[in-house]
Amino acid sequence: MLTGRKYRLDLTAEQTAFAERIGGACRSVWNTALEQRRTYRRRDAWIGYHEQAQQLVEAKTEFGWLAEVPGHCLQQTLIDLDQACSRHGTWKVRWKSRARTAPSFRFPEGGKITIERLNRRWARAKLPKLGWVRFRITRPLGGKVKNATVSRDGAHWHISFLVEDDISPPERHAHPGSAAGIDRGVVKVVTRSDGVFHHQVFATDREVEHAAVLQRRLARTRKGSARRKKAAATLGRALAKVRRRRADFAAKTACVLATSFELIVFEKLAIRNMTATAKPKPDADQPGSYLPNGAAAKSGLNKAILDKGWHRIELAARSKARQTGSHVITVNPAYTSITCRVCSVVDPKSRESQAVFRCTSCGHTEHADVHAANNILTAGRAEFAQPRPGARAGARKPRNRVGRKANRQATAAQATAQTEAELAGIPRL
Ligand SMILES: [Zn+2]
Repeated sequence: MLTGRKYRLDLTAEQTAFAERIGGACRSVWNTALEQRRTYRRRDAWIGYHEQAQQLVEAKTEFGWLAEVPGHCLQQTLIDLDQACSRHGTWKVRWKSRARTAPSFRFPEGGKITIERLNRRWARAKLPKLGWVRFRITRPLGGKVKNATVSRDGAHWHISFLVEDDISPPERHAHPGSAAGIDRGVVKVVTRSDGVFHHQVFATDREVEHAAVLQRRLARTRKGSARRKKAAATLGRALAKVRRRRADFAAKTACVLATSFELIVFEKLAIRNMTATAKPKPDADQPGSYLPNGAAAKSGLNKAILDKGWHRIELAARSKARQTGSHVITVNPAYTSITCRVCSVVDPKSRESQAVFRCTSCGHTEHADVHAANNILTAGRAEFAQPRPGARAGARKPRNRVGRKANRQATAAQATAQTEAELAGIPRL
């Protein structure tokens, strides 16, 4: 089974600078190649990975900053872009901006990476062109390295290895027939249908306040100034701390879920609802004024710090499920919170408050989230009983081959109609 291992790197100042340069080169290759693909598409033509890779080879002879970084990392960037474009469409793939994207690059050939253990705490890996890099070996690698990705999260660099551990997934889960519905919420992050809660506060009130102070301090600095850099780093560190807690919680919760249940049912998250700006709620005590959960409550900083990591929990569960033989599925969440699970009557009034569900028809009373989790479980059991091909847990959406074929045909048709001179205005890599 393929699995990931991530370690904190201890780079020298020289290596840090070089790693930044590699990240920058990959970013600019991504952006240029994306722009090229879009220009082609605007002219109803199409350019693929192989042609772009060929142009990259030519570009390397011309630009020193491209030639100095590991070629495989640049190639991998083009492969990633190719996959992103065929999966999501050329127009949906986003630019990588210097401010928003943390540098990250992959060494695709595990065979070229040598790993040595130095002592109990430290190990080192030899990467093409970057040389020997030291990392804290906090757990054994446990298998053969397939590739390595170097990335920066805030101030720290990490290396993650994709490892083949030669462990095959179990035929059947250790508790056959066990199942849980999961309701993800704000008051309790995870509520299980058996009435168990998994909850953690990721940022204390004081930390939320402090982050807001840091954010204001950042807003008062001038663009490109040294003070801005410093303020951004301070805020980044505060947010990274919260992010680590969230990741830790997701991993631990997912581990409990996957080891205890064969079937794990989540509600499908409506991403659009989560990222949309919330309508301000009128304040009942002061008519005419609004509670502070309006536009600002869902703005960038608050989202970063108050986020419950709902999607991450699902991802972690899917990952862990491969080791335990669990199945993770998602169901439509519509009406799960207002349908009585005893008499099936749908009534919004049955949800008496955030915490209490009391059926207006039969009087069934239960904790609202536990009740919703049970509805999710029922829906999930029904769906799991009749699996459709390709809809099983963890199945990846097939790549959009039809679109690519149509693209290629369009290109071929264009090539006959259009002369080389007409295409000459397109930028090359
Ligand atoms: Zn009822």
